[in-house]
Amino acid sequence: MIVKERKPPITLLKLEALLRRLPKEHSMRSTIESDFMKIKSGYVGEKKVDYYLNFLPKKEYSIFHNIRLKSEDHFFQIDTLIITSKYILLLEIKNMLGNLMFDRDFHQFIRVLGQNEENFPNPILQVNRHQKELISFLSRHKLDIPPIYSFIIISNTSSVIKTTLRTSKVLENVFHTEHLPLKIQMLNEIKTNQIVSTNQKRKITKAILKNHTPLISNVLEKYNINKNDIIKGVFCPNCITRIMKRAHGSWYCECSHKSKVAHVQAIYDYGYLIGQSISNCECRDFLQLSSSSSASYLLKSLNLTQIGFNKSTKYLFQFDD
Ligand SMILES: [Zn+2]
Repeated sequence: MIVKERKPPITLLKLEALLRRLPKEHSMRSTIESDFMKIKSGYVGEKKVDYYLNFLPKKEYSIFHNIRLKSEDHFFQIDTLIITSKYILLLEIKNMLGNLMFDRDFHQFIRVLGQNEENFPNPILQVNRHQKELISFLSRHKLDIPPIYSFIIISNTSSVIKTTLRTSKVLENVFHTEHLPLKIQMLNEIKTNQIVSTNQKRKITKAILKNHTPLISNVLEKYNINKNDIIKGVFCPNCITRIMKRAHGSWYCECSHKSKVAHVQAIYDYGYLIGQSISNCECRDFLQLSSSSSASYLLKSLNLTQIGFNKSTKYLFQFDD
């Protein structure tokens, strides 16, 4: 089984596009910036963990990222899910700065950063819930249930893990990223009679991939932003701030930068923010382009799936998480 390269979460790309195209003074800007930073930091943490996972023999470990499955009445998302011939392993990855405290009395997960103390969802409870949800998912699909383990990985090396728990048993599965290879090796050494056959492994993988439902979020709706607030045009990749003009098959900026490809980001921004498809007319409006043949040429060059003919042709964006 091939380890699929973890792609940036689609929400991250959407928020990036939104920040690019939202006026500087917009009232939602700081909320969006803070959400963007949270998602980005999560992604950076997951990439750090992937570095260690890449050393695992690909034949023996089937690794899936950001799997989102339906439980009875809601969805649950697993940062990383690993299937081997002995067990299933779930990884919950936290990329947080500061001192991280697992509190015994109230089951809180507290982050102390400088003078600030903040409570976060407790990842121990979170993975326990995911484990139960995965068991019920497998049993609903009439699949064998191998032993399921979960690790909470603190991917920021400078953060300190603390606890007021009397026994550190619960914390055996909470550690910094660099301990992951050893922890996986320890799991492999657990004696078990229960072997997941190749056929079972294939069935489990198939059910998980078939039922994986990426979250498609409309960020304009989420932040209650009017479509008209979005700045149109092709941004200059050099000075970032100015809108470029098209002439003689290229994009030109007042900062004297010239580009052949600056429209690509703009067209994708449309897909991230406005619609799942784009027509020639919508493209001209968004790119501030007068020529219909230029718009058609630019859209075709992106190799998007086309539906319809002539004037009603639409180009589909297919973003999968
Ligand atoms: Zn420029």
